[in-house]
Amino acid sequence: MHIDCLQAYGDSQLAVRQLNGQYAVRNATLVPYHERAKYLMSQFQDIHVSHIPRSENDKADALANLAASLTLPSERDIQVTIGERYLLPPAIERIEEVADSNVITSSECEEEPDDLDWRHPIIEYLLLGKLPNDSRKKAEVRRRATRFLYLNDTLYKRSFDGMLLRCLSKQDATKALHDTHVGTCGAHQAGPKLSNQLKRLGYYWPTMVRDSIKFATTCKDCQLHEDFIHQPPQQLHPTTLSWPFEAWGLDVIGMIKPKSSRQHQYILAATDYFSKWAEAIPLKEVRADDVTNFIRNHIIYRYGVPSKIISDNALYFKCKSMTKLYEKYKFQHSFSASYNPSSNGQAEAFNKVLCNILKNMVSGNKRDWHERLPEALWAYMMTIRNSTGCTPYNLVFGFEAVLPLEVQLPSLRVALQLTNPEENANVRLEELEAFNRNISGSGGRGIQQKS
Ligand SMILES: [Zn+2]
Repeated sequence: MHIDCLQAYGDSQLAVRQLNGQYAVRNATLVPYHERAKYLMSQFQDIHVSHIPRSENDKADALANLAASLTLPSERDIQVTIGERYLLPPAIERIEEVADSNVITSSECEEEPDDLDWRHPIIEYLLLGKLPNDSRKKAEVRRRATRFLYLNDTLYKRSFDGMLLRCLSKQDATKALHDTHVGTCGAHQAGPKLSNQLKRLGYYWPTMVRDSIKFATTCKDCQLHEDFIHQPPQQLHPTTLSWPFEAWGLDVIGMIKPKSSRQHQYILAATDYFSKWAEAIPLKEVRADDVTNFIRNHIIYRYGVPSKIISDNALYFKCKSMTKLYEKYKFQHSFSASYNPSSNGQAEAFNKVLCNILKNMVSGNKRDWHERLPEALWAYMMTIRNSTGCTPYNLVFGFEAVLPLEVQLPSLRVALQLTNPEENANVRLEELEAFNRNISGSGGRGIQQKS
């Protein structure tokens, strides 16, 4: 190539310094290579060998690898063409390209594709009489469709007790699970209880039991605060009572650590034996006056005079002001024996449930528990109790409370109320008149209407 002057680069610092004469060649195997290189260098008039980092020497490396991997015939010169090909355009070109490139944006669809939504075949059959092509699916859809009803663009399923349950898509079902278990009134119920509660709220999807169990077992808070069950199951000993708010169990939870940010360290709680309804307030310390005020303001003035209040033997339950109170309102005050505190089992059971709900609700520093107490109480009232098979709210008021979830995903009763408030009022009036007629017809005294 008739080159006289050459600037050469190498990534081996040892070889470069040996060629420049800075290091001596001690390794015998390197000597022949070194002498050959020195001979070749002597063919040039001016030659410099410099060191560069390995990362900047990749082209020479690739060439050396190629030469080593090919067996080239010695008698013939072979020309190797080096081409450059970028898998991605170089950075500078890429920047310009951004402006020209076609941008494809995707947004999350609100609704699932039709073939994924379990409701679609049933709606198609109910509206258009159309069945899927698969013969097995055809029979299944025909069989299942008898239980469903399509009303105001919403699919409802008739449950065994005749209630119409709103059918939810997969996305809505996930939202419903989350809101009922963890949301504002979520009491972190176990799987079967969770699915039962969703059903009572008026929702349905085919895998709700399995999904509820899966959701509850994967909830982080539930795993952290799960109870250790050391006792074998025992039969329940029912307490016979005649009406709600007849007997209350009274107990104090505490001392609670850490104190709340407002220095509360106790919770005074009362539980109704009939409906399992509960009332609770946070306290800085428990004094006799606090207890009597609580009984007066939270029990008597709200739910009437009970016939019995059961508590343990703590001094604040045995004081003079307490005696005055039950003499004035003529209710009985029983004490659980100190050797058998579990005879006040109702209050003790509520304490445990309330503490568990609170544990799952409090923030990281745990000092906001006094603010979370009303929310925990609400979650407790909205959860089905095993002993009654019903929520305390339902036992007291005769229907389920409307929860925030029901407003977002309207269940049948909310949907009807929202769409036809006037018709709803007319239905109520008709019901009232029918009730009036029934009473008159059965010989009782009818409701007198003023004209
Ligand atoms: Zn949970």
